[in-house]
Amino acid sequence: MISGDTIDLYASKIVVAAGPWSDELIAKDTPRSLKRLRPTKGVHIVYQGTISTNAFLLQSRQDKRIFFVIPFKGNSLIGTTDTDYDQGPDDVKVEEEDIRYLLQEASRVFPNITLNARKLFPPLPD
Ligand SMILES: Cc1cc2nc3c(=O)[nH]c(=O)nc-3n(C[C@H](O)[C@H](O)[C@H](O)COP(=O)(O)OP(=O)(O)OC[C@H]3O[C@@H](n4cnc5c(N)ncnc54)[C@H](O)[C@@H]3O)c2cc1C
Repeated sequence: MISGDTIDLYASKIVVAAGPWSDELIAKDTPRSLKRLRPTKGVHIVYQGTISTNAFLLQSRQDKRIFFVIPFKGNSLIGTTDTDYDQGPDDVKVEEEDIRYLLQEASRVFPNITLNARKLFPPLPD
């Protein structure tokens, strides 16, 4: 990278430690290699204001997954989701469905608070 030169390296073993990019990297060397990963997307959202001063470990009713509601710098961290995602680690986006899932599940546990997507931090673009 520094000089722009290309050099050959030799090794008996190569460890690929590229996390969610591992399949992409291996495919550059072996285009027909089997995929090794089953990537998933984990979304957290930051909700304006303190939903509770305590941290909660909760179980979702929809899919029985564990998620958290945690006070975070005057706001509340809610998450995570964990959904299959095979569109590449560089293109991960939060989708409306992710937000709806987290707000629905958190609302169920805090029925006295009306959680809505307009109170995310930072606010969603119009
Ligand atoms: C928001 C979030 C919360 C998480 N929370 C938890 C948790 O609470 N508990 C838990 O156990 N796990 C958690 N994880 C998962 C955990 O972070 C990963 O499982 C872990 O970091 C994977 O480590 P890794 O070394 O395999 O890959 P990574 O940490 O992803 O490292 C891969 C590295 O390879 C580099 N790279 C990619 N392509 C190339 C290339 N072509 N050439 C050179 N370098 C390359 C990348 O830049 C990166 O630095 C969380 C992940 C996220 C995103």
